Amino acid sequence: MRHRSHASWKTLASTLGLLVIFSGSGRSSDSSTQKRAETAPPDAASLTAQMRDDLRKALRLNSEAATQDEWSQSGYTPSDIFQNLKDLRRPEAWDSLCQALSTLPAEDLALFQDEIENPVHGEQLSCAPDLALKLKNHWEEAQLAFAQDQMLEQMGREFSAKDEEPILLPSMEKHIDAARGPVYSRGELKDGEIAFTFDDGPHPTRTQRIMEILRNSGIRATFFELGPSAREYSAISRQLVDAGHTVASHSVTHPELPKLPVERAEKEILNGRTMVAQACGVDVPFFRFPYGARNRTLTDFVKSRGMASFFWNMDTLDWKIRNPKTLFENILSELNREKGGIILFHDVHEQTVIVLPYLIEELKARNFSTVVFVPH
Ligand SMILES: [Zn+2]
Repeated sequence: MRHRSHASWKTLASTLGLLVIFSGSGRSSDSSTQKRAETAPPDAASLTAQMRDDLRKALRLNSEAATQDEWSQSGYTPSDIFQNLKDLRRPEAWDSLCQALSTLPAEDLALFQDEIENPVHGEQLSCAPDLALKLKNHWEEAQLAFAQDQMLEQMGREFSAKDEEPILLPSMEKHIDAARGPVYSRGELKDGEIAFTFDDGPHPTRTQRIMEILRNSGIRATFFELGPSAREYSAISRQLVDAGHTVASHSVTHPELPKLPVERAEKEILNGRTMVAQACGVDVPFFRFPYGARNRTLTDFVKSRGMASFFWNMDTLDWKIRNPKTLFENILSELNREKGGIILFHDVHEQTVIVLPYLIEELKARNFSTVVFVPH
């Protein structure tokens, strides 16, 4: 997740012994900081070592986080790390970050992909083109390896005549009367019925690839978009609507709403809805709480505005599982446990794009039907 910039750069800077150097020495009353101020500023090697530690910490916290919320609060998300670096205002620190990033295995590097490819870092991150190429190659290889793996799995299965025909999974529409402010976790779906939902987009490249995969199987899904992303990529939001998907909202800045003052939380909900509606041209009264974090006051508020709230009962964990095979196994175990309902994806991750066609094949093999939520 992005959208969150913690004050943790101060912690980082203090760890680096940099805070006093850049804020004018001696003003801090923190004795440990003063002590550090007496030592020489870290050289490039120790800066790189510190960056490497931070990257490792980010990877560890990501894999250990039980929820996406916990991860985003860790202070070590890729956007936190890049923001800290910008705040340091030391051009050479970018070279240190480049060196630290270049030592990561590609699958770990992938955690930082969106920041690496973010054009706002511009020329500061001089290694960006090389790292982007490394990631591109990594995903091609990962996709191929996963495809081969799945092919071997398939060989053990019997083939029937109907496998030669392309099978479609046209989604049944489930009409939702949002005026009553209903709350859904399983979406009242039966065993063998599944509703695809995608959060946090639209993404400049991945959302359209997901759209293409869904189109090939006739599947319609529900997308819960963030206001600013919808505004920035409004053409993609409109394409989703044109393709028959439902495009709903997921706040403006993706905060943990119960932690905000109520008025601000309410603005997040209402403004997010307005921004998404303006972007895609359709106002859908469906809302998904960021991280699923809600309280009574806010669920009552959503209800009072005639909006339906959607949660989920199957979590892909695609925000942290970057290996396609592991992600696919997790999805299958969710599916085996719940047997149907609402599945949560994020259309902003490469691994999600890679596994989606295989999940669809699996659902066809299991005779699943797909469901799309539409306003009444
Ligand atoms: Zn989200």
